[in-house]
Amino acid sequence: MEYYEVLGVSINASAEEIKKAYRQLAMKHHPDRNPGDQEAEEKFKAAAEAYEVLGDQEKRQIYDRYGKEGLQSRGYHGPGSASDIFSSFGDIFEDLFNFGGGGGGSRRSRSGAVNGADLRYDLSLSFLEAAHGVSREIEITRPETCWTCEGSGLRPGCRAKTCSTCNGRGQVLQAHGFFRLSSTCPHCQGTGETIADPCQDCGGSGLVNKKKKVSLKIPAGVDTGARMRLQGEGQGGRKGGHPGDLYVVLHVESHELFEREGENIYYTLPISMVQAALGDKFDIPTIHGVKTITIAKGTQANDTLVLKGEGVPSLRGAGRGDMTVIFKVLTPTNLSKQQEDLLRQFAGLTPDTNSGQPDEEGFFQKLFHH
Ligand SMILES: [Zn+2]
Ligand SMILES: [Zn+2]
Repeated sequence: MEYYEVLGVSINASAEEIKKAYRQLAMKHHPDRNPGDQEAEEKFKAAAEAYEVLGDQEKRQIYDRYGKEGLQSRGYHGPGSASDIFSSFGDIFEDLFNFGGGGGGSRRSRSGAVNGADLRYDLSLSFLEAAHGVSREIEITRPETCWTCEGSGLRPGCRAKTCSTCNGRGQVLQAHGFFRLSSTCPHCQGTGETIADPCQDCGGSGLVNKKKKVSLKIPAGVDTGARMRLQGEGQGGRKGGHPGDLYVVLHVESHELFEREGENIYYTLPISMVQAALGDKFDIPTIHGVKTITIAKGTQANDTLVLKGEGVPSLRGAGRGDMTVIFKVLTPTNLSKQQEDLLRQFAGLTPDTNSGQPDEEGFFQKLFHH
């Protein structure tokens, strides 16, 4: 369907008309107001996608001239995941609540609007999920704006009373020794109003706890401590306040084989003394699959081999880090008599520096003549 059709506006609609049409659709089809209604959710998403384009002067021009393909060829792919949709919705949430309020301005102090708090959700990811990116759906329980009373806490049709404790000021003066300090009114929590007839759905709090599933698209390359901000997905606002944001804080689990430092991976490979001396080919795991590496002849303990581009993808989009293989040469233990004899024979055969023994003369020279 054409974007103009989705929003029900003409091709010549002004920016204001487009915004207004979107507001109305978003209010009507918002998932919070239509829980479990698949059709409403689809309509909500379609409206969000249409507004994302038509609400942006530049995108709208491209769309008018070249259509959806024109947008795609310029790298715009629409709001792919639900979290994208909600973040674009968050931008207009402010307008939704201001709508009809006329100009905003002193909204906060006059109407006692209370913004919702930000919420935090801790999400654990496996080492490989963080490296490759993953889609996750999380379920959060959050206090949402009660739509029965629009967050006012009032039974519909009833009015709030001026708080008798603070006379509507929201602040009370308390004596502290010689001083009189102003503090938030404990009776009305600073709103200046009390509710004689509370809304039955929220008991007057203006908020109702709801379970909500949120889809997250976690990009490849995230690390512990990374935060994803989902605008408007926090606690609901009351009395026309804005909803808070939801912060998803990521924790990446460690891996049995790999160590990670930023985009680079470190892997310790135990090899035998013989492999170290004679060289070998070896299949090793990487985060991108099995790779065959060549152990060079004469590899020393803690020698490294860098596999370019076998690390974690860059969060900035281009390229990958490297993987460093650290060789750990294992000295044989529990040798049989025959093996010991062979090693002695080996040592006797090669009295020069190739025996792998330290150059004693040089060593003592460095020790005493330096
Ligand atoms: Zn009060
Ligand atoms: Zn309510």
